[in-house]
Amino acid sequence: SLSDRLAATFKNLRGKGRLSEADVDATVREIRRALLDADVAVPVVREFTGKVRERALGAEVNAALNPAQQIVKIVNEELVEILGGQTRRIRLAKNPPTVIMLAGLQGAGKTTLAGKLSKWLKGQGHSPLLVAADLQRPNAVKQLQVNGERAGVPVFAPDPGVSSEFEAATGDPVAVAQAGLAEARSKLHDVVIVDTAGRLGVDAELMQQAADIRAAISPDEVLFVIDAMIGQDAVATAQAFDEGVNFTGIVLSKLDGDARGGAALSVATVTGKPVMFASTGESLDDFEVFHPDRMASRILDMGDVLTLIEQAEKNWDKDEAARMAKKFADQEDFTLEDFLAQMNQIRNMGSMKKMLMMMPGAQNIRQQLEQFDEREIDRVEAIVRSMTPHERVAPKIINGSRRARIARGSGVHVSEVNGLLERFGQAQKMMKKMASGGGIPGMPGMPG
Ligand code: GDP
Ligand code: MG
Repeated sequence: SLSDRLAATFKNLRGKGRLSEADVDATVREIRRALLDADVAVPVVREFTGKVRERALGAEVNAALNPAQQIVKIVNEELVEILGGQTRRIRLAKNPPTVIMLAGLQGAGKTTLAGKLSKWLKGQGHSPLLVAADLQRPNAVKQLQVNGERAGVPVFAPDPGVSSEFEAATGDPVAVAQAGLAEARSKLHDVVIVDTAGRLGVDAELMQQAADIRAAISPDEVLFVIDAMIGQDAVATAQAFDEGVNFTGIVLSKLDGDARGGAALSVATVTGKPVMFASTGESLDDFEVFHPDRMASRILDMGDVLTLIEQAEKNWDKDEAARMAKKFADQEDFTLEDFLAQMNQIRNMGSMKKMLMMMPGAQNIRQQLEQFDEREIDRVEAIVRSMTPHERVAPKIINGSRRARIARGSGVHVSEVNGLLERFGQAQKMMKKMASGGGIPGMPGMPG
């Protein structure tokens, strides 16, 4: 996964405070590969990584994040932005019915989506009408009727008496769409979903038909349905439909498969249109409102890391970190108070162990982490609290009788006081080394 590959890239970066051009380029290379793996179209990848590179090079150093996290954060933000930022809702018509037209290649999932969307809208209190304006495939009308029945939504279809003629493709889908709209008005349906025909490939005649339907019914939304598995073809198909019918939103179907969703990024980039819904299976309930942020983590395949970044940023106490940095710079002594403050920084970050395990590069310290026990922080806190202020800043004076007193005061065994003082001594040494060698560790206070 990208997490693993980034971990390898970042082994050399840990502890550096600034994003150098070489660091950024190495990272961007991995991001590029991850996007190609997710089937994002090549030109889209190129444009995207170019933008990320520029932003990463200009980025300010962020105390809460290591360089890897900083770049991943930028990538994520850019992805979310291109995918539409916020979830885009259906624009309801001021004067109902709201007209929604579906367009896309044959097999993209339009008819299935018509059923899903109608069921979802019905659940939201609307009273939709489905209109079968695909007269191309013999079974298309029947398929929509089956979906309508399952959804509990009525379907407007050409008169069954003449359906054989329609099946011979002599029917006029524009007329059916218009008649469906009239039916919705007379029966007071507040939403109309018009299913249309697709072809296996982009086709001038098909596009003309879709454009004619669009012109005839002036839809409030034209949803372009695209199979998420389509991969590199997504760009050409989306461009053709955008020119042909000027769609208003994108629906990504078959996201239940292996597709990492790169098509979403490709299509959104080349058309500038928002992805609005996702279709995730054959059942009518396999349907979701599209969330750009969730898709961004799916494309990046780094959901856990993104969560970690968010939490680290939220909980990192910048003032405390700055105070510590100044202490190093001033070559001041690292005291037990500092030690405790660092441990509390860690505690504030939540379930530290779980979070650290998710971090790129965590495998290096995995073994230590597995032994790390958050209750340890409580014990350390109790022990330090039982020391006098003088003992905390000058631990050297803590002799045997003082140790016994501290152990009694904090309810622990003397050996635990000894253990803490020993670990503190090691941490102090490490801090001194860091102060002279420059650089503040990403996670100060980590035991071990
Ligand atoms: P249309 O030609 O665009 O109307 O596409 P259909 O709605 O007829 O769907 C084509 C095929 O894809 C059908 O077999 C559907 O059951 C299937 N399908 C549609 N949407 C999804 C989806 O989200 N996931 C999966 N696994 N199959 C889907
Ligand atoms: Mg269909």
